[in-house]
Amino acid sequence: MNKFIGAHVSASGGVYNAPLNAKEIGAKAFALFTKNQRQWKAKPLSDETIDKFKENLEIARISPKHILPHDSYLINLGHPEDEKLQKSLDAFIDEVQRCRQLGLDKLNFHPGSHLKKITQEECLEKISDSMNKTLEATEGVTLVIENTAGQGSNLGYDFEHLAYLINNSIDKSRVGVCIDTCHMFTAGYDIRTKEAYKKTWKEFDEKIGYKYLKGMHINDSKPDLGSRVDRHESLGKGKIGIDAFGFIMNDPHMDDIPLVLETIDDTIWEKEISLLYSLIE
Ligand SMILES: [Zn+2]
Ligand SMILES: [Zn+2]
Repeated sequence: MNKFIGAHVSASGGVYNAPLNAKEIGAKAFALFTKNQRQWKAKPLSDETIDKFKENLEIARISPKHILPHDSYLINLGHPEDEKLQKSLDAFIDEVQRCRQLGLDKLNFHPGSHLKKITQEECLEKISDSMNKTLEATEGVTLVIENTAGQGSNLGYDFEHLAYLINNSIDKSRVGVCIDTCHMFTAGYDIRTKEAYKKTWKEFDEKIGYKYLKGMHINDSKPDLGSRVDRHESLGKGKIGIDAFGFIMNDPHMDDIPLVLETIDDTIWEKEISLLYSLIE
């Protein structure tokens, strides 16, 4: 069994609750926020919290490499205004350090938004600069860029954006990407049929490269192909349909990386995880 499937579980009450919440739904991987995702500040992780997190990971039998922490929604590493950009950078570096303290080796983030105040190119340059400053200030954690649906002024919807950020990184060994199936689809990359799936991933491999694939978000999509709208749906109930998830489950390129559900109904995550495992031929 080479697939590690889970969900973005709650860490409410303390990060150490996340592994137990994952275990509860039969997950072998998970995502979490290491702090409240809607606040800038968080109190530092205590030694006790860190120890308890690691103990609970052992109880849940989940390995740190199958955990994909997600950064705060407030952070915009491409912010057009200097003061807000700096605030984002400080918060991002703090989050990387929190991951490191918890023994985790990845941090998943959305690239950033130009807010219609600067060009896409200028925004990508700022994101790249923020990533490089973070790489300089930290160690041991890979910065995992998530593809986006391209809603509003969010960058990262085009594989070229992700490729640019990797190519301009000062340490390519510490950058990677997380591909969200809903975002991929609504950004215009079709995966619904075997042919479309192959074509999309061939383009991914040519522009980015499988070696940078560090995780996936497994979501069906409420909106249509190319709509540039970010609305997740439960598996098989959206516009992508169940076949695409079967292709992923049988694709060796997705072995040994966290495959994380962010579908809208968390009461059926356990069922969705079993469903995904059942698709493996
Ligand atoms: Zn996602
Ligand atoms: Zn989304």
